[in-house]
Amino acid sequence: MLTVDDDPAVSRAVARDLRRRYGQDYQIVRASSAAEALDALREIKLRGGRVAVLLADYRMPQMNGVDFLEQAMDLFPHARRALLTAYADTDAAIQAINVVDVDHYLLKPWDPPEEKLYPVVDALLEAWQSAGDRDVEEVKVVGHRWSAPSYKIRDFLARNLVPYRWFAADEPEGRRLLDAAGAGPEAIPLVVTPDGRALTAPTAGEVAAAVGLSTAPVHDFYDLIIIGGGPAGLGAAVYGASEGLHTVLVERKAIGGQAGQSSRIENYLGFPDGVSGAQLTERARRQAGKFEAEVLTTRDVVGLEARGPARVVRFGDGSELSAHAVILATGVSYRPLVAPGVAELTGRGIYYGSAATEGPACAGTDVYIVGGANSAGQAALFFSRHAREVTLVVRGESLERSMSYYLIQQLAAIGNVHVRTGTEVLEAHGTEHLEAVTLCDSKQGTRTTLPAGHLFVFIGAEPRTEWLDSAVVRDPRGFVYTGPDLLTSGQRPTGWDRDRDPFYLESSVPGIFAAGDVRANSVKRVASAVGEGAMAVTLVHKYLEAP
Ligand SMILES: Cc1cc2nc3c(=O)[nH]c(=O)nc-3n(C[C@H](O)[C@H](O)[C@H](O)COP(=O)(O)OP(=O)(O)OC[C@H]3O[C@@H](n4cnc5c(N)ncnc54)[C@H](O)[C@@H]3O)c2cc1C
Repeated sequence: MLTVDDDPAVSRAVARDLRRRYGQDYQIVRASSAAEALDALREIKLRGGRVAVLLADYRMPQMNGVDFLEQAMDLFPHARRALLTAYADTDAAIQAINVVDVDHYLLKPWDPPEEKLYPVVDALLEAWQSAGDRDVEEVKVVGHRWSAPSYKIRDFLARNLVPYRWFAADEPEGRRLLDAAGAGPEAIPLVVTPDGRALTAPTAGEVAAAVGLSTAPVHDFYDLIIIGGGPAGLGAAVYGASEGLHTVLVERKAIGGQAGQSSRIENYLGFPDGVSGAQLTERARRQAGKFEAEVLTTRDVVGLEARGPARVVRFGDGSELSAHAVILATGVSYRPLVAPGVAELTGRGIYYGSAATEGPACAGTDVYIVGGANSAGQAALFFSRHAREVTLVVRGESLERSMSYYLIQQLAAIGNVHVRTGTEVLEAHGTEHLEAVTLCDSKQGTRTTLPAGHLFVFIGAEPRTEWLDSAVVRDPRGFVYTGPDLLTSGQRPTGWDRDRDPFYLESSVPGIFAAGDVRANSVKRVASAVGEGAMAVTLVHKYLEAP
């Protein structure tokens, strides 16, 4: 752990407090200027050491804490970072947190450290241990930079928080691994597990099973099946399992849902400095595991029905799983961008969502982000740290109607971010991968073709609940109606056979509930999704008491 502060008294105090609690397990290095701290970091790097936590004073002569942390990240990208600030600098520190990826800021003085310093450092260490450069037996992935299947596997591993090392198939180590697996270049992506098993061009399900993610339920019957592993589903899993319900959560892709893709969620209660979607997901997954909720990944639910008192879900492979109650928490998926060239280049320079795995690959390239809502703004902030230029392509006439004020302000302050309103993507060009985009300015009626390395799409979302068919009543866009929305002039929905109205989050079938973004008229936010997941569990209890 390294701490840097130009005030010797403060510097000594921080080091003393850190040593007292962490001295047994970590070496504490103290520096009194950014330059000295960078020298120390270079030395640690050369010695092959690792750095878990960096604590830097914000206001230092020559180089302030933010600039120091940015340079330190080049040496130790996995080290977790915190700024030490005086009360008067809080605003500047918060701005900095949004611009460079600082995990926390700590107000000086922090007495008592048990309350104000250690919980923060504990959280930093926890994040470093779960995602950082700890000693892990890594999964290896060999593939082509611009191959869509290779991208899918990398994205799958990253979103499921499985550390992996990437090798290009045309580099020596990549070729060596392919040779060792007896596989030709056509076999990519090649996945090599820590115990040496090689999988050529595997499905996500095969990779999940090989890296130890659960894909099959332990039992045939549960109290509660939750479909979807976003914030609503995870919220329901934590509350369900912690309140004694035998609970299984089924996720088709990666735990975390949309929130898992967010580079920084700033408005979730209890995280004043923001939290990355990956961090929130990792904590929620551990919390669900602690209460013994089963979590299955790569299982796509394609059918749901009531069979007597049981609620039965059917998977894509035809197998079934039953429970007393079901919570639908399937959220929403991105709406496709329809323009020539887009479908062909998806996964090869064009991505839906923020694809954080692509951050480093954007270095020095021009990045286009399509969309005008907060998710697009967050992505622009994120990629501005990697790309040469970032252009936000917005169909509407201004950002004010669709994006939060704080994000608009932050974007305006970044030199390499440009906003093009009243503009649409007309075409994407490229052979192997995306090379250029044609934009149309609707005000001026002009078309421009510009070089483009990456294009990220954030143009709204839809529930994709066609598979529910007529199982439960949905609105014309596919969102699931619940509770009071099911009553028409006080009349209960057709087929409703109970002597009570549907509970607030209950669908048109008793014992099937909906929570989060998939629910008609819900608020599309992390906090509300988590809240509805918890509330749905309370209603499941009520249902189980008197079905
Ligand atoms: C980039 C980005 C940034 C955002 N930032 C913020 C923010 O800062 N603050 C905020 O409050 N909100 C933010 N949001 C919105 C927030 O993430 C969503 O409102 C929230 O994730 C909704 O949670 P959910 O659980 O209802 O659905 P989702 O997060 O959509 O999760 C649904 C899950 O269900 C799975 N699933 C779907 N169908 C099936 C099926 N048939 N079988 C099995 N699994 C299935 C999906 O794979 C997915 O993992 C952001 C969204 C995005 C995309």
